Amino acid sequence: MGEDDRKPALQSVEVPTGGDAACWLPALCADCGAMIEGPPGAVCWRCGGTRREGD
Ligand SMILES: [Zn+2]
Repeated sequence: MGEDDRKPALQSVEVPTGGDAACWLPALCADCGAMIEGPPGAVCWRCGGTRREGD
């Protein structure tokens, strides 16, 4: 009895600092619609077009 009262402490997820790579949101190519991942300004890997901006 009472064993369920002991809950394991939640382990805090350690977020590595020093990079904003995780902040890059995938964008769609304005020309072919392919998903482009990378920093702002990255060109489409399929057609070399630009990302669709504004939403
Ligand atoms: Zn494209």
